Amino acid sequence: MLDAYREGILSINHRSPAFEEISRDCIKYLRKKLGVPQEYGIFYTTSATETWEILAQSFIRKKSFHIFNGAFGRKWYEYTKKIKPKAHGFEFGSNHLLAVGKISVPKDVEMICLTQNETSNATQVSNKTIGKIRDTFPNKLIAVDATSSMAGIKLDYKNADIWYASVQKCFGLPAGLGLMICSPTAMTHADKLNESRHYNSFNFIAEKMKDYQTTYTPNVFNIYLLNRVMKNAPKIAITHNKIVERYDQWIIFFSDFNSFELLNKNAEVNSYTVLCLSAKPDIVNAVHKKANQSGIILGNGYGDLKTNTFRIANFPAIKQREIKICKQFFKRHFD
Ligand SMILES: *Cc1c(COP(=O)(O)O)cnc(C)c1O
Repeated sequence: MLDAYREGILSINHRSPAFEEISRDCIKYLRKKLGVPQEYGIFYTTSATETWEILAQSFIRKKSFHIFNGAFGRKWYEYTKKIKPKAHGFEFGSNHLLAVGKISVPKDVEMICLTQNETSNATQVSNKTIGKIRDTFPNKLIAVDATSSMAGIKLDYKNADIWYASVQKCFGLPAGLGLMICSPTAMTHADKLNESRHYNSFNFIAEKMKDYQTTYTPNVFNIYLLNRVMKNAPKIAITHNKIVERYDQWIIFFSDFNSFELLNKNAEVNSYTVLCLSAKPDIVNAVHKKANQSGIILGNGYGDLKTNTFRIANFPAIKQREIKICKQFFKRHFD
């Protein structure tokens, strides 16, 4: 942040060569470190929420099919319905593996929408399952919300057409910037639809991105930070292993407590990047109160799970020292 300030990044013009260079580098390092296929496009958005709207406007003529088990997947479905009312919702149990063979997708569906990491209940859909969806529905576009997992775990980008995230989760950056990754099939599809009614119509975004620019004045500061972070980041396989190792340690740690338990008992569906613990509401209250007093920020339960759960982020930027402090906190007050 200090470097950005000193280098005058905070005042550079977003149409200038100086910006284009930072932006080009940023895309280059994202591709390299996250393992994004060469033929896929990478684009900036302002948030994951904006991406819900971009997808509904620029990629769907009439109908999308939303597979979800929690609040974020449902929100995506609800927002899409406001723009494309024929959107179809398919809910599955959060304790179960998604049974791909049992899903029947209507013929006129253009896009299957899936939340890879459901941040509200800390479940995930594995690369293997997404691969199954790809094999089962080879002619549909597949869009994946990876907001709270991209840059934290390894994702098989080839198994879907659109992936998106925002930088305040696993990228460890300030909020206010999102990313969208698109397959050649997705880009051709949007090109054919030729939707051009919005500042964030995908075809405008793609056109500007040829010069590594955006259709609006972007968050130049955050793009600079993202570039610096990705340049120094290890390859995703290394981060993935660190995250899974820390996840395993958290699971062992909490197995000793009587007051809390993991919300989902099926280890096969648990998220690696977010933990969701359930407890009696008075205990959840006490956890938040004590955490506040100790200077620890825990995640509130989300939506329907507000009173009986709390969440712990297992994001790469969190330091081992901070995890230790958090564990000591639980041991001191709740063991
Ligand atoms: C955080 C989150 C969002 C929303 O991200 P914004 O950047 O606030 O738009 C969407 N989906 C999932 C799964 C999330 O975790």
